[in-house]
Amino acid sequence: MIIEKDNLKYAEWWNRVITDSELLELRYNIKGMFVWRPYGFALMKNLNNEWDSLFAKNRIKETYFPLLVPVEYAEKNKSWWNSFKEQAFYALGYLENEKKVFLRPTGEPAMYPMFKLWIRSHRDLPLRIYETVSSFRSETKSTKALVRDVEIGPWYEIHTCHATKEEAEKEIQLGIKMNEHLYNVLAIYPLKVRKPVADCFPGSVGAVEFYTLMNDSVVENGSCNNLGQTYAKAFNIQFVNDRQKKDYVWQTCTGNGERFLSAVIANHADEKGLVIPPLLASIRASLVLIKLKKKEMNEKIDMGLNEDEFELVETDTIAELGEARYSNERKGIPVRIEIGPKELAEKKAHLLWRTGKKELVAISKIKDNLKKGLDAMQVELLEKTRKELEKRIKPCKNYDEAKKAEIALIGWCGSEKCSGWIKSKTEKEIIGMTLEAKIMPCIECKKKGEAIYVSKSY
Ligand SMILES: [Zn+2]
Repeated sequence: MIIEKDNLKYAEWWNRVITDSELLELRYNIKGMFVWRPYGFALMKNLNNEWDSLFAKNRIKETYFPLLVPVEYAEKNKSWWNSFKEQAFYALGYLENEKKVFLRPTGEPAMYPMFKLWIRSHRDLPLRIYETVSSFRSETKSTKALVRDVEIGPWYEIHTCHATKEEAEKEIQLGIKMNEHLYNVLAIYPLKVRKPVADCFPGSVGAVEFYTLMNDSVVENGSCNNLGQTYAKAFNIQFVNDRQKKDYVWQTCTGNGERFLSAVIANHADEKGLVIPPLLASIRASLVLIKLKKKEMNEKIDMGLNEDEFELVETDTIAELGEARYSNERKGIPVRIEIGPKELAEKKAHLLWRTGKKELVAISKIKDNLKKGLDAMQVELLEKTRKELEKRIKPCKNYDEAKKAEIALIGWCGSEKCSGWIKSKTEKEIIGMTLEAKIMPCIECKKKGEAIYVSKSY
């Protein structure tokens, strides 16, 4: 949803949705850090379980590396270290030989010196591992919960090593598919782009990046990085190939986590609060009984639902009923089942969907109705984001159009000089090239170019 393109109002709305739904506690007294409340952490955990089983299915093994990273490891790749050292948190305290250490901002410097020890021959490849951890980066810019935090977590990062360039490229394709699977759970249709090399993760030779909508901008939300042999050379990760020759491994990395939830808030939440897609929901349905006890109802009718398929709220007064409804909406629980004495007499129940749909159904058919409704809601939310993204992307022939468009699709020749003009004349960022390359003349110099997306970006 777009809130009058007013970032202050949007920030207020953002924090209110997060706080009122009991997703997070934002009053923890370190800027850029927050507390996960049980309701929020249950959602995060659901997504975490989803990626655990997805990665297990694709034979990527879970691991855990220490939080503290020796500076000497980080210095092995200068381009990485130069882009992270300003944001690093150095740890104080006694370590042997007064070793300088810092908190992990990403996994590379801790992992790759170990890869060097583990990989000897082509039989040790491919190496495919991941960890789900917190990472730490100091933020001088303004922070925004779930989008820009000092402690980023939980988030996963996958790191792989391969014998050939082709295998590494296949891994990138798998990474894209796995991201799409997770976005499907979130009922989000993301924008996928290829990043120009200059904008990639430090040391990468290419990347596919996912973007999600946020107010009138887009936000980076997961990337699959092709590291080529840059890191292998910096960390000296070599193996003896099947022709008995030494070669450097080909590497990829990808990661995301809590920021996934920012897409759910930005794309699905409304004035009343969160709207949680059924596949992500920790509570899919609430049963709100009005002047009625569950025990009493059970004596008269069997709903056919297991106790773990809904959250039960028994209300006696108007105030209690009001609070139950309000809390339900703030938390974005997909559906509320309401039954009072009148409905019970008619053996009917109201189904009130968080997307606005209302139904009166036979209590004996609730189970079927819930299943159908939850499936439909998941599709409806996904479709809504697909249409919204399509609506915002506009192919533009000139700067006037590109300036007005939310996400402009224009041509770019690839030169740095033209990218500078494009950014200043559109007052937007270059997000990336279309996933399938499209020929389009450069909007600036009119030479042959490729189609790129240009948008405001967080
Ligand atoms: Zn140009």
